[in-house]
Amino acid sequence: LSRTHGAAEERNLRISFEFFPPKNDAMEETLAQTITKLAPLSPDFISVTYGAGGSTRDPSRRTLAKILEQAGVPAAAHLTCVGSTKAEVDEVIRDFASMGISRFVALRGDPETGMGTQYVPTEGGYENAADLVLGLKATSDFDVSVAAYPEKHPESPDFDADIEMLKRKVDNGANRAITQFFFENDLYERYVERVRAAGINVPIVPGILPIHNFKAMSNFAQRCQTNVPAWLADRFSGLENDAQTHAMIATAIAADQVTDLVDRGVTDFHFYTMNRPDLVFALCKLIGIKGNDNSAWAA
Ligand code: FAD
Repeated sequence: LSRTHGAAEERNLRISFEFFPPKNDAMEETLAQTITKLAPLSPDFISVTYGAGGSTRDPSRRTLAKILEQAGVPAAAHLTCVGSTKAEVDEVIRDFASMGISRFVALRGDPETGMGTQYVPTEGGYENAADLVLGLKATSDFDVSVAAYPEKHPESPDFDADIEMLKRKVDNGANRAITQFFFENDLYERYVERVRAAGINVPIVPGILPIHNFKAMSNFAQRCQTNVPAWLADRFSGLENDAQTHAMIATAIAADQVTDLVDRGVTDFHFYTMNRPDLVFALCKLIGIKGNDNSAWAA
């Protein structure tokens, strides 16, 4: 641990958080508590996911409004183009911009029939995320993030094709890429080397997923083709009914991952919070993020 002492101050570490729109009142309450705890860490932005085909437009909008109002930090709207026409997507862009949103995460999204189903661009729609970046940048000089895949996107035939797609997104104006979650930092580092060799110079921000539920994470990882190393599965084996040890192991593993990334020179981190504050809060404190308000300790 001592290796990262002073990291945040010396290297100007920056963080962002990702939330999803709550599905019921109880989740709404958890989200409010999460915002109270995490906002004082002064993230660059808090982003809110968006369902395929605009399926979460209203809940995403409400969550964005809540962040602007409650957290007082910039909110970034994820936007997908799958299953929508350009006119529909452009209307959402204008609507979100009118709320004061100037940051977007531009995504293709997956067909509603599920990940792994063949993606077909919608007639009259944005063809993919690269095309959506163009649409966003033509509307205004928004700050635009895009997705990147250290283990390549499942539909990309190889790494060259995958990185070519990232290059198109960046050439069209994307300001940064945020990665899919991963557990082997070597994979991330190798990917960044490939990206740089392809002449892509924007930040490739690692997406960090603290493991709140190993089984649920493994199922999701399988669908995204994210490698869950055997050593990781070993650490969680037998902990299905032991929430306390599960949480301790999850914290230790994520702590090791982020401190190692800081050691490797990474300065920007995006946390997939799953709308839960504790693990992410601890990780940010660990790498030296102070934020602006000690009242977070009492929250
Ligand atoms: P793109 O970069 O456009 O393309 C990915 C791959 O799709 C390409 O490599 C290529 O193989 C293939 N492809 C692209 N265009 C075409 C085409 N015209 N025809 C055929 N194949 C094509 N999903 C959500 O629904 N909501 C979210 O809020 C959300 N947030 C995310 C945030 C991050 C940081 C990440 C990493 C992912 C997120 N996703 C979200 C998941 C994302 O939508 C999926 O991974 C999706 O499969 C690809 O989106 P993309 O923007 O990377 O696609």
